[in-house]
Amino acid sequence: MSKIYDCIILGGGPAGLAAGLYAGRSRLDTLIIEKAQDGGQIAITDEIENYPGQIVEGESGKSLVARMAEQVKKFGAERCSDVVKSVDFSGQIKKITCAKGEYEAKTVIIATGAHPKAIGCENEGKFVGTGISFCATCDAAFFEDFEVYVVGGGDSAVEEAMYLTKFARKVTIIHRRNELRAAKSIQEKAFKNPKLDFMWDSVVTKVDGDEILQKMWVKNVKTGEETLIECDPDDGLFGLFGFIGYVPNSELFEGQVEMDRGYIPTDADMHTNVPGVFAAGDIRVKSLRQVVTACADGAIAAMQAEKYIADME
Ligand code: NAP
Repeated sequence: MSKIYDCIILGGGPAGLAAGLYAGRSRLDTLIIEKAQDGGQIAITDEIENYPGQIVEGESGKSLVARMAEQVKKFGAERCSDVVKSVDFSGQIKKITCAKGEYEAKTVIIATGAHPKAIGCENEGKFVGTGISFCATCDAAFFEDFEVYVVGGGDSAVEEAMYLTKFARKVTIIHRRNELRAAKSIQEKAFKNPKLDFMWDSVVTKVDGDEILQKMWVKNVKTGEETLIECDPDDGLFGLFGFIGYVPNSELFEGQVEMDRGYIPTDADMHTNVPGVFAAGDIRVKSLRQVVTACADGAIAAMQAEKYIADME
């Protein structure tokens, strides 16, 4: 462990890659540590149509990310595949301990993201991206005039269900209790929406279909009765959106930076409460978690890291 990087970026999703691009262009000696494939959540997104300028027919999240990673490489940021085990942000030089080794840097950008809570039904993994989605802003347009189901009863589920009614023929909220958790003002709007229906006291137990989502079993938790819901044969599929909360990938940073329910608060320049440590993307406390906002965060964090190092010297 001899080398001290200018900047270590944790996570190779859009926020981390954008940070890597800007840090590399600023000639910072930069290392991106990613435990799996680049791209984070968008690597499993079938189609991206809301990233500005992204109008390539059939563009998938994976291909968009591959181009981002190529661009990062061009500007000189190193990338390594390793699993971060612990971090120590207490000194001026930050220490990152990974499965394969230890790394040190003057600055760290945390871009480890968040993941949506799974619906928790049988076969769920097989249909993510082919009927099951966790992002209405990303995928609503693919269900234009289809039937859509939404799992959850909080603000996100009800607001996203209302958003989905602008696209889908009919939207049904499946909620495990007989009253919504969402704010009353949101509920009032929802109950007035003629395209919105509710299945109370219900949970999705299993999904199935021929490559795409075509049927699901919904169980009434009070009576135990199970109902099979099948797609309209003319449609050939339906949509199922899960909004039962997000899980920030932040366990590693407990006790190292300030957190708010697992998310990391920053100022508008991505500073955390620890000097030299920045956060970018979905891990931050923020209102819109999208590729475009993650990239913007990453760019700002990298420029602030450069400024921090210049002020150190
Ligand atoms: P949330 O408030 O935690 O609601 C999660 C919902 O999912 C609850 O209705 C919960 O049911 C249900 N749920 C949880 N686990 C489940 C499971 N395993 N199976 C089935 N259902 C399950 O999450 P959120 O809606 O994502 O909101 C997160 C935070 O952001 C909240 O503080 C919210 O107020 C805020 N937010 C605010 C706005 C706004 O102000 N416009 C918009 C979006 C989010 P129970 O009700 O039975 O627990």
